[in-house]
Amino acid sequence: MRRRLVIGNWKMNGNRAENQQLLSDLVNLQKVGGAGADDGTKGADVELAVCAPFPYLPQVADALKGTGITWGAQDASEHAKGAYTGEVSVAMLAEFGCSWALVGHSERRAYHGETSDVVARKAAAVIQGGLTPVVCVGETQAEREAGDTLKIIDEQLAPVLALGADAVKNMVLAYEPVWAIGTGLTASPEQAQEVHAHIRKLLAAAGAPEQRVLYGGSVKAANATSLFAKEDIDGALVGGASLVATDFQGIADA
Ligand code: 13P
Repeated sequence: MRRRLVIGNWKMNGNRAENQQLLSDLVNLQKVGGAGADDGTKGADVELAVCAPFPYLPQVADALKGTGITWGAQDASEHAKGAYTGEVSVAMLAEFGCSWALVGHSERRAYHGETSDVVARKAAAVIQGGLTPVVCVGETQAEREAGDTLKIIDEQLAPVLALGADAVKNMVLAYEPVWAIGTGLTASPEQAQEVHAHIRKLLAAAGAPEQRVLYGGSVKAANATSLFAKEDIDGALVGGASLVATDFQGIADA
Protein backbone atom coordinates (compact mmCIF):
# COMPACT_ATOMS: atom_id res chain seq x y z
CA MET A 1 0.00 0.00 0.00
CA ARG A 2 1.58 3.25 -1.11
CA ARG A 3 0.90 6.08 1.31
CA ARG A 4 -0.21 9.27 -0.39
CA LEU A 5 2.44 11.99 -0.48
CA VAL A 6 1.84 15.67 -1.20
CA ILE A 7 4.93 17.86 -1.52
CA GLY A 8 4.88 21.63 -1.88
CA ASN A 9 7.60 23.13 -4.08
CA TRP A 10 7.77 26.78 -3.09
CA LYS A 11 10.23 27.50 -5.93
CA MET A 12 11.83 30.97 -5.52
CA ASN A 13 8.97 32.45 -3.52
CA GLY A 14 8.48 33.68 0.01
CA ASN A 15 10.31 35.71 2.60
CA ARG A 16 10.76 35.31 6.33
CA ALA A 17 7.46 36.92 7.25
CA GLU A 18 5.35 35.20 4.59
CA ASN A 19 6.95 31.84 5.33
CA GLN A 20 6.22 32.19 9.03
CA GLN A 21 2.56 32.82 8.28
CA LEU A 22 2.30 29.99 5.76
CA LEU A 23 4.04 27.52 8.06
CA SER A 24 1.96 28.38 11.09
CA ASP A 25 -1.24 28.22 8.99
CA LEU A 26 -0.21 24.79 7.74
CA VAL A 27 0.53 23.51 11.22
CA ASN A 28 -2.81 24.85 12.48
CA LEU A 29 -4.73 23.29 9.61
CA GLN A 30 -3.12 19.97 10.44
CA LYS A 31 -4.44 20.22 13.97
CA VAL A 32 -8.06 21.02 13.17
CA GLY A 33 -10.43 18.19 12.61
CA GLY A 34 -7.61 15.68 13.10
CA ALA A 35 -8.33 12.53 11.14
CA GLY A 36 -6.68 10.39 13.73
CA ALA A 37 -2.91 10.39 13.50
CA ASP A 38 -1.31 9.43 16.83
CA ASP A 39 0.46 12.76 17.16
CA GLY A 40 -2.81 14.68 16.92
CA THR A 41 -2.08 15.86 13.40
CA LYS A 42 -4.44 15.37 10.54
CA GLY A 43 -4.44 12.63 7.98
CA ALA A 44 -2.45 9.58 8.97
CA ASP A 45 -3.24 8.51 5.41
CA VAL A 46 -1.38 11.36 3.73
CA GLU A 47 2.14 12.55 4.18
CA LEU A 48 2.81 16.28 3.71
CA ALA A 49 6.13 17.95 2.95
CA VAL A 50 7.44 21.32 1.78
CA CYS A 51 10.54 22.06 -0.28
CA ALA A 52 11.77 25.56 0.50
CA PRO A 53 14.56 27.80 -0.82
CA PHE A 54 17.90 26.99 0.86
CA PRO A 55 18.21 30.03 3.16
CA TYR A 56 14.84 29.35 4.75
CA LEU A 57 15.49 25.72 5.65
CA PRO A 58 16.39 26.56 9.29
CA GLN A 59 13.17 28.58 9.56
CA VAL A 60 11.15 25.71 8.10
CA ALA A 61 12.88 23.23 10.39
CA ASP A 62 12.06 25.32 13.47
CA ALA A 63 8.42 25.69 12.45
CA LEU A 64 7.78 22.08 11.43
CA LYS A 65 9.86 20.07 13.90
CA GLY A 66 7.60 17.56 15.65
CA THR A 67 4.52 18.41 13.54
CA GLY A 68 4.49 15.39 11.24
CA ILE A 69 5.08 17.62 8.19
CA THR A 70 8.54 17.00 6.74
CA TRP A 71 10.68 19.33 4.63
CA GLY A 72 13.37 19.37 2.02
CA ALA A 73 15.29 21.35 -0.60
CA GLN A 74 14.65 22.01 -4.28
CA ASP A 75 18.05 20.82 -5.48
CA ALA A 76 21.28 19.35 -4.14
CA SER A 77 24.85 19.12 -5.37
CA GLU A 78 26.15 15.87 -6.77
CA HIS A 79 29.43 16.63 -4.97
CA ALA A 80 30.18 16.02 -1.29
CA LYS A 81 32.24 19.18 -0.70
CA GLY A 82 34.86 21.48 -2.15
CA ALA A 83 35.29 24.14 -4.78
CA TYR A 84 31.73 24.26 -6.16
CA THR A 85 30.71 27.87 -5.76
CA GLY A 86 27.00 28.33 -5.19
CA GLU A 87 26.27 24.66 -4.60
CA VAL A 88 24.75 23.10 -1.50
CA SER A 89 25.70 19.58 -0.43
CA VAL A 90 23.40 16.86 0.83
CA ALA A 91 25.27 16.79 4.16
CA MET A 92 24.39 20.47 4.60
CA LEU A 93 20.73 19.72 3.94
CA ALA A 94 20.86 16.88 6.44
CA GLU A 95 22.12 19.29 9.11
CA PHE A 96 18.86 21.18 8.76
CA GLY A 97 16.69 18.11 9.09
CA CYS A 98 15.76 17.78 5.43
CA SER A 99 14.08 14.53 4.44
CA TRP A 100 13.84 15.32 0.73
CA ALA A 101 15.63 16.93 -2.17
CA LEU A 102 13.99 17.52 -5.53
CA VAL A 103 16.30 16.60 -8.38
CA GLY A 104 15.88 17.20 -12.09
CA HIS A 105 12.99 19.64 -11.87
CA SER A 106 12.25 20.84 -15.41
CA GLU A 107 13.22 24.38 -14.38
CA ARG A 108 16.69 23.08 -13.41
CA ARG A 109 16.92 21.14 -16.65
CA ALA A 110 15.78 24.12 -18.76
CA TYR A 111 17.57 27.03 -17.05
CA HIS A 112 20.64 25.30 -15.61
CA GLY A 113 21.39 22.75 -18.30
CA GLU A 114 20.97 19.73 -16.06
CA THR A 115 21.16 16.57 -18.11
CA SER A 116 19.62 13.27 -17.10
CA ASP A 117 23.11 12.00 -16.24
CA VAL A 118 23.62 14.91 -13.83
CA VAL A 119 20.17 14.25 -12.38
CA ALA A 120 21.08 10.59 -11.79
CA ARG A 121 24.33 11.57 -10.05
CA LYS A 122 22.43 14.03 -7.87
CA ALA A 123 19.87 11.34 -6.99
CA ALA A 124 22.72 9.00 -6.00
CA ALA A 125 24.32 11.71 -3.84
CA VAL A 126 21.02 12.43 -2.11
CA ILE A 127 20.52 8.75 -1.27
CA GLN A 128 24.13 8.42 -0.15
CA GLY A 129 23.53 11.34 2.23
CA GLY A 130 20.50 9.64 3.76
CA LEU A 131 17.77 11.79 2.18
CA THR A 132 15.14 10.79 -0.36
CA PRO A 133 15.42 12.26 -3.86
CA VAL A 134 12.24 13.25 -5.65
CA VAL A 135 13.30 12.68 -9.25
CA CYS A 136 11.30 14.83 -11.68
CA VAL A 137 10.66 13.94 -15.31
CA GLY A 138 8.33 15.24 -17.98
CA GLU A 139 7.94 16.16 -21.62
CA THR A 140 7.50 19.55 -23.27
CA GLN A 141 4.46 20.51 -25.31
CA ALA A 142 6.39 19.96 -28.56
CA GLU A 143 7.53 16.51 -27.44
CA ARG A 144 3.96 15.52 -26.56
CA GLU A 145 2.65 16.79 -29.87
CA ALA A 146 5.33 14.78 -31.68
CA GLY A 147 4.12 11.65 -29.89
CA ASP A 148 7.41 11.32 -28.02
CA THR A 149 6.17 11.52 -24.43
CA LEU A 150 7.01 7.98 -23.34
CA LYS A 151 10.30 8.02 -25.21
CA ILE A 152 11.34 11.20 -23.35
CA ILE A 153 10.36 9.63 -20.02
CA ASP A 154 12.43 6.55 -20.91
CA GLU A 155 15.45 8.71 -21.77
CA GLN A 156 15.17 10.84 -18.64
CA LEU A 157 14.79 7.84 -16.36
CA ALA A 158 17.37 5.52 -17.95
CA PRO A 159 20.45 6.76 -16.04
CA VAL A 160 18.41 7.06 -12.84
CA LEU A 161 17.08 3.49 -12.99
CA ALA A 162 20.56 2.28 -13.93
CA LEU A 163 21.63 3.18 -10.37
CA GLY A 164 20.09 -0.19 -9.45
CA ALA A 165 17.23 -1.54 -7.35
CA ASP A 166 18.76 -0.66 -3.98
CA ALA A 167 18.98 2.99 -5.02
CA VAL A 168 15.61 3.13 -6.76
CA LYS A 169 13.93 1.70 -3.65
CA ASN A 170 14.97 4.93 -1.90
CA MET A 171 13.43 7.28 -4.45
CA VAL A 172 10.18 9.03 -5.14
CA LEU A 173 9.46 9.90 -8.78
CA ALA A 174 7.45 12.84 -10.03
CA TYR A 175 5.86 13.16 -13.46
CA GLU A 176 5.57 16.84 -14.31
CA PRO A 177 4.64 17.58 -17.91
CA VAL A 178 6.44 20.84 -18.67
CA TRP A 179 3.40 22.23 -20.50
CA ALA A 180 1.29 21.86 -17.37
CA ILE A 181 3.64 23.66 -14.97
CA GLY A 182 2.39 27.06 -13.88
CA THR A 183 0.15 27.29 -16.94
CA GLY A 184 -3.20 26.34 -15.45
CA LEU A 185 -3.28 23.43 -17.93
CA THR A 186 -3.38 20.12 -16.10
CA ALA A 187 -2.84 16.78 -17.71
CA SER A 188 -6.17 14.97 -17.67
CA PRO A 189 -6.27 12.13 -15.17
CA GLU A 190 -6.16 9.73 -18.15
CA GLN A 191 -3.13 11.44 -19.72
CA ALA A 192 -1.32 11.41 -16.38
CA GLN A 193 -2.28 7.81 -15.61
CA GLU A 194 -0.92 6.64 -18.97
CA VAL A 195 2.50 8.06 -18.12
CA HIS A 196 2.36 6.95 -14.48
CA ALA A 197 1.54 3.39 -15.55
CA HIS A 198 4.50 3.50 -17.92
CA ILE A 199 6.77 4.75 -15.12
CA ARG A 200 5.43 1.97 -12.87
CA LYS A 201 6.40 -0.57 -15.52
CA LEU A 202 9.92 0.87 -15.67
CA LEU A 203 10.11 0.80 -11.87
CA ALA A 204 8.99 -2.82 -11.83
CA ALA A 205 11.63 -3.74 -14.38
CA ALA A 206 14.18 -1.98 -12.16
CA GLY A 207 13.08 -4.10 -9.19
CA ALA A 208 11.19 -1.35 -7.34
CA PRO A 209 7.51 -1.51 -8.38
CA GLU A 210 6.15 0.04 -5.20
CA GLN A 211 7.93 3.40 -5.33
CA ARG A 212 5.63 6.36 -5.19
CA VAL A 213 5.03 8.37 -8.37
CA LEU A 214 3.68 11.89 -7.86
CA TYR A 215 1.97 14.06 -10.45
CA GLY A 216 2.85 17.74 -10.79
CA GLY A 217 1.55 20.54 -13.01
CA SER A 218 -1.18 22.98 -11.96
CA VAL A 219 -2.53 20.69 -9.25
CA LYS A 220 -5.33 22.30 -7.22
CA ALA A 221 -7.85 21.00 -4.73
CA ALA A 222 -10.41 21.02 -7.55
CA ASN A 223 -8.50 18.63 -9.82
CA ALA A 224 -6.63 16.60 -7.19
CA THR A 225 -9.47 14.19 -6.43
CA SER A 226 -9.76 12.91 -9.98
CA LEU A 227 -5.97 12.66 -10.35
CA PHE A 228 -5.60 10.78 -7.05
CA ALA A 229 -8.36 8.38 -8.09
CA LYS A 230 -6.01 6.94 -10.70
CA GLU A 231 -4.28 3.72 -9.79
CA ASP A 232 -0.70 4.81 -10.31
CA ILE A 233 -0.91 8.42 -9.06
CA ASP A 234 0.37 8.37 -5.50
CA GLY A 235 0.23 12.06 -4.68
CA ALA A 236 1.26 15.45 -5.99
CA LEU A 237 4.17 17.82 -6.35
CA VAL A 238 2.54 21.23 -6.01
CA GLY A 239 3.94 24.61 -7.05
CA GLY A 240 1.66 27.65 -6.96
CA ALA A 241 -1.06 26.12 -4.78
CA SER A 242 1.50 25.22 -2.09
CA LEU A 243 1.95 28.92 -1.29
CA VAL A 244 -1.53 29.21 0.21
CA ALA A 245 -2.06 26.99 3.24
CA THR A 246 -5.75 26.29 2.65
CA ASP A 247 -5.13 25.44 -1.03
CA PHE A 248 -2.27 23.09 -0.13
CA GLN A 249 -4.27 21.45 2.65
CA GLY A 250 -7.21 21.16 0.25
CA ILE A 251 -5.03 19.05 -2.05
CA ALA A 252 -3.90 16.90 0.87
CA ASP A 253 -7.55 16.36 1.83
CA ALA A 254 -8.69 15.56 -1.73
P1 13P B 1 2.53 24.44 -10.49
O1 13P B 1 1.75 23.64 -9.47
O2 13P B 1 2.66 25.89 -10.10
O3 13P B 1 2.04 24.21 -11.87
O4 13P B 1 4.04 23.88 -10.45
C1 13P B 1 4.26 22.52 -10.53
C2 13P B 1 5.68 22.26 -10.22
O5 13P B 1 6.56 22.57 -11.00
C3 13P B 1 5.99 21.62 -8.93
O6 13P B 1 7.31 21.22 -8.88
